[in-house]
Amino acid sequence: MNGPGRRPQTTIFTTMSALAQRHDAVNLGQGFPDESGPAHIIEAAATAMREGRNQYPPLAGIPELRQAITAHQQHWYGLAPDPDEGVTVTAGATEAITAAMLALVDPGDEVIALEPSYDSYKAAVTMAGGTLVPVRLDAPAFRLDTARLAAAVTERTKVLLINSPHNPTGTVLHRAELEAIAALAVERDLLVVTDEVYEHLVFDGREHVPLASLPGMWDRTVSIGSAGKTFSVTGWKIGWATGPADLIARVKDVKQWLSFASGTPFQYGIATALASGEEFYRDYIAGYQERRDLMVAGLRGIGFDVYEPEGTYFVTTSVAPFGYEDGMRFCLELPERCGVVAIPTQVFYLGEQEARPEVRFAFCKQLEVIEEGLKRLGAGLA
Ligand SMILES: *Cc1c(COP(=O)(O)O)cnc(C)c1O
Repeated sequence: MNGPGRRPQTTIFTTMSALAQRHDAVNLGQGFPDESGPAHIIEAAATAMREGRNQYPPLAGIPELRQAITAHQQHWYGLAPDPDEGVTVTAGATEAITAAMLALVDPGDEVIALEPSYDSYKAAVTMAGGTLVPVRLDAPAFRLDTARLAAAVTERTKVLLINSPHNPTGTVLHRAELEAIAALAVERDLLVVTDEVYEHLVFDGREHVPLASLPGMWDRTVSIGSAGKTFSVTGWKIGWATGPADLIARVKDVKQWLSFASGTPFQYGIATALASGEEFYRDYIAGYQERRDLMVAGLRGIGFDVYEPEGTYFVTTSVAPFGYEDGMRFCLELPERCGVVAIPTQVFYLGEQEARPEVRFAFCKQLEVIEEGLKRLGAGLA
């Protein structure tokens, strides 16, 4: 964290976006879609705005959205959070994660998360006075070693913070892995917070199984979702936390002193979005699967070692075949060398300085953009 009087650290995304601009590069770094979002969702938010729904929403979110979140969880997972007591809308999943950590973690507590991990986890746990304890997913398969997870639990462990589908590796936890996590949580009486922002982005007919749906888990789990990735509207920052009333009450207690509430017209848009028929979700997955296949095949053809993702819109590669042991150096050179931006995976590790050969590419881009990026990589790395 940055103390008073210190300059805020620039994130890798800021550095890379500046390089992208300077070299007019194809940005396959940051994970936001380069499209404007589905028309029926945009229209629902615009209509809400025109109808004058522009003032503060309730702390927990508008009832229409809370009901839509419950209906969505019921439809896909058979879960039934109480729309009044068991659902709270947040300023993106990011606020839900931070509020959950501040609500559930006391100074000195430990929170276990899969590593590499999304960059806000460490900040959120640190703000709560806790310590993030990483459990590594190792290349090439990036599977969860459940014995390693169990060994990381100590007397101080309070929360398991589990992200699946997993950014950046693309791992989707299998049912056996989820059952092992659930058994551990029950045995050691741990709370679980799940980051499921890529719940609809699972490929090859796989299924996303929320931990909260496993036996013994509902009462101890806060599940976090977001509209940004699923509906290609990352700038709206509408997320949510669902779970048992007592845990959600604690999250809301914190959230009221963070944003309090936000995004009234966007909440109406997402209430409409969540009610999209199954066909919408099928098309969404099919569109991304096509792009994943293009990206994976293209990168393999150029000579990258590619770890094919089971979910999310990221693909992790190794740049060792190009003679690099340091993905950071590769990524810093890439915009000038090829006119492409990618993200070194080492920024998703606690020991951020340690050089690693993995590099992450995002494929939440138009097919032509991916094709252009691949063409440039092929030419520049040849
Ligand atoms: C994008 C992302 C988030 C943040 O979601 P917002 O709704 O934009 O705040 C959280 N977790 C993971 C793993 C992400 O990739």
